[in-house]
Amino acid sequence: MKVKDREYLEQKLKVSGQLLERGKKCLLSHYTNGNFSEFVFFESGKGSKIVDKDGNEYIDYAMGLGPLLLGHAHPDIVKAATKATIEGSVHGFGNIYEVEFAKLLVDAVPGIEKVAFTNSGTEATLQAIKCARAITKRKKIGKFEGNYHGTHDYAQISGRNATSGNIEDPKSVADFGGIYKEVLDNVITLSMNVDETFDKIERFKDELACIILEPLPLMCPLEMKDFIKRLRDITKQYGILLIFDEVVTGFRLGFGGAIEYFGIVPDLVTYGKLIGGGFPVGAVAGPDEYMKVLSFNQMSYGKDKVYLTGTFNGNPVTCAAGVATLEYLKNNKNVYGEMEKKTMYLRTKLEEAAKELKFTFRTLGAASLFVSYFHEGKIENTRAARWKSTMQAFMILRRHMLKNGVILSDTGSYFLSTEHTYEDCDKTVQIFKKTLEEII
Ligand code: PMP
Repeated sequence: MKVKDREYLEQKLKVSGQLLERGKKCLLSHYTNGNFSEFVFFESGKGSKIVDKDGNEYIDYAMGLGPLLLGHAHPDIVKAATKATIEGSVHGFGNIYEVEFAKLLVDAVPGIEKVAFTNSGTEATLQAIKCARAITKRKKIGKFEGNYHGTHDYAQISGRNATSGNIEDPKSVADFGGIYKEVLDNVITLSMNVDETFDKIERFKDELACIILEPLPLMCPLEMKDFIKRLRDITKQYGILLIFDEVVTGFRLGFGGAIEYFGIVPDLVTYGKLIGGGFPVGAVAGPDEYMKVLSFNQMSYGKDKVYLTGTFNGNPVTCAAGVATLEYLKNNKNVYGEMEKKTMYLRTKLEEAAKELKFTFRTLGAASLFVSYFHEGKIENTRAARWKSTMQAFMILRRHMLKNGVILSDTGSYFLSTEHTYEDCDKTVQIFKKTLEEII
């Protein structure tokens, strides 16, 4: 970034800059939620836009990193969450919102009979893995290189940026510190859309408790229906539980998420992000046969049970917001088609604008989410998608788009909501063109 651009940004983000300095004295980072959108401090959000502490308005495509399918501060969600807050934000008893929320999930998604709520996607994937181990009495878990499942130990093996070993037989590597070899030894890392993956599963078939995957990986949203179908077949054959991590795709690919989109039913499924309408949430769900392994009672100890409780699990405010979100979607299913059309419009216009300026840029995605790439190589698996140059180019683009009034997420992904308009898309394309002219 040129010095004059940095100066411009410092001028534009004066109050944010001051807050950043204040924050540095007591926080390790102001972006603990993972969206390191430079140093923007948020004042308010409405629909597809946010306003920062300096009064600058942005069109937002980070959208809270995915949870805001209905946009910022949707009136139905604000109303439901406010009502539940006034009634008492936590009380440690059963609440009607949790029952209604679970019922909406069960009715929406094929194969789900029971739901257990957590407060994040991380907790949901961890609990689903524990369930699989307790059910199968096996120790190892299979996961895919480049897939993201949160921040617990098993999720931080060969995650988004991993490329270790051959693609046919990727190595398990710890992405971050604090992870023991014992964990590493029990994670079998697999490659998506690669035939040899099935040989590797055969090799570990008696030890694998489960295989967890993002059915449409956020980092490489390539539709791999045939591959997932083969996975479903082989896991069924060997009694390995198949877990769909639908933290991103749930209710985004369509009302029934990836399960409905691909017509493939896993054994367990995890949710998070958008089902809570912008409040902290996670969920594990599946058929009664498997879900009954969970215990919520401290007195029912035993190695056969997985103990899952939490002070804020099934919190009434979150559940009320979740009910408002899912009811809105249930009653307005047309929004999925509209969002997809708008997203395709934006993707096409961005690609055309880049082509005009002879800038290598293309997009990959489905429904209302997409990712941009800055190379021409073939993208047929997650490893091909994670070229270092792509992330570096995206970081530069992101910073300049921010300066010009568009917020992009840290991961290279764009999330649209029901509130994004064609006018937003056109404005984004104009800003994109201006930005490319600046940075080429
Ligand atoms: N799974 C997937 C597919 C995700 O994208 C994420 C979050 N980005 C998680 C799990 C973890 O969810 P959380 O951040 O709520 O812990």
